[in-house]
Amino acid sequence: MNVQSPNDLRAFWMPFTANRQFKQNPRMFVAAKDMHYTTADGREVLDGTAGLWCCNAGHARPRIVEAVQAQVAELDYAPAFQMGHPKAFELANRLVDMAPEGMDHVFYTNSGSESVETALKIALAYHRARGEGQRTRLIGRERGYHGVNFGGISVGGIVNNRKFFGSLLAGVDHLPHTHLPEKNSYSRGEPEHGAELADDLERLVALHGPETIAAVIVEPMAGSTGVILPPKGYLEKLRAITRKHGILLIFDEVITGFGRLGAPFGADYFGVTPDMMTTAKGITNGVVPMGAVFCSGAIHDAFMQGPENAIELFHGYTYSGNPLAAAAGLATLETYREEGLFDRAAELAPYFEDMLHGLKGLPHVMDIRNLGLVGAVELEPVAGAPTKRAFEAFLAAYEEGVLIRTTGDIIALSPPLIIEKGQIDRIGEVLSKVLRALP
Ligand code: PMP
Repeated sequence: MNVQSPNDLRAFWMPFTANRQFKQNPRMFVAAKDMHYTTADGREVLDGTAGLWCCNAGHARPRIVEAVQAQVAELDYAPAFQMGHPKAFELANRLVDMAPEGMDHVFYTNSGSESVETALKIALAYHRARGEGQRTRLIGRERGYHGVNFGGISVGGIVNNRKFFGSLLAGVDHLPHTHLPEKNSYSRGEPEHGAELADDLERLVALHGPETIAAVIVEPMAGSTGVILPPKGYLEKLRAITRKHGILLIFDEVITGFGRLGAPFGADYFGVTPDMMTTAKGITNGVVPMGAVFCSGAIHDAFMQGPENAIELFHGYTYSGNPLAAAAGLATLETYREEGLFDRAAELAPYFEDMLHGLKGLPHVMDIRNLGLVGAVELEPVAGAPTKRAFEAFLAAYEEGVLIRTTGDIIALSPPLIIEKGQIDRIGEVLSKVLRALP
């Protein structure tokens, strides 16, 4: 169908979108290649966000396209129930090989949200399998984003993701967020101040008793709530406290996984290994939905104790390890490796950082944060109209041919790791123009 009139847009209730606004003035992509999208009216838009933090190798990469095409013709689907297919195993081996030491197994899902639910369920069932079934409490963090399912919104710390949806999971607590603008504004990379915020976990342990706490889940670097970085030493402290009390530490690496920070995972970048990592997005370059939960040998092995013909974990999805996703994943990892894209991200990071911090002093700019190929420009909100200014910046940048994303009044950038320096310059020029022109 050719979408032409507003009536054609009625049926699709769009996710995370201002539907009524969009349908008056739709923005449609009809094609993509490498660093660019093509709009329905034939314009090229530079992708400053890797789709939605996921197309880390850029768009329509031939190896990935061909792998998916070949796979759908050869084996389109295999039941994710007492059956396997070779590529799911091959991809799991590759993933484990590239993961931090100790992340020895992967459980497949179809999205970041499902990876989070899976990890939380594994954490609860793991303690139970070891005779510590009283460990049921889950701890997240303010301003954490862990997808949109019930576990994820319960441990997450975004008010709008929580307040409309009832009472959520019981027995959840939250650490304070690590956004300290008065101390850390305009930090380049990890901020200096705030490691002591991790000590709040000791307070929660004392409050509830360590024997009641199953897991702590945090994003090593919070992405969707505006690029909030861990203060130096913060993650090490969380690791030490969780280990001391037998609490599992889960890193939600849906954004930080697969090279975004210039290392394979956030765990590598920060040098802190959790007990589980939740991933999605870059695992298949965003091409076919897929997620994976990485877990330690100790967690996996705790389940492998009962009768051999018994299902060890009552959990899984019809599309877990889907052949198309597995083929896309293998081709994606090969593209990352062959083109050295994680190293490339690390090499480009200082250039990207300089571009971003060059925006300091422009109208409305309150703070700038960055790490690897992730950046945020926080704008002063319009009084009484939060999100308005950043949304206008988004629309204006789109008109100028650059895709950014916004969260609240924060502009977030996360370009594909294949970006060229000239394209980084272009993002800077457009942002500068847009910010100067904003009311
Ligand atoms: N966790 C984190 C850290 C994320 O950034 C996201 C998505 N931005 C999710 C979970 C949810 O992923 P999905 O949208 O694939 O469900």
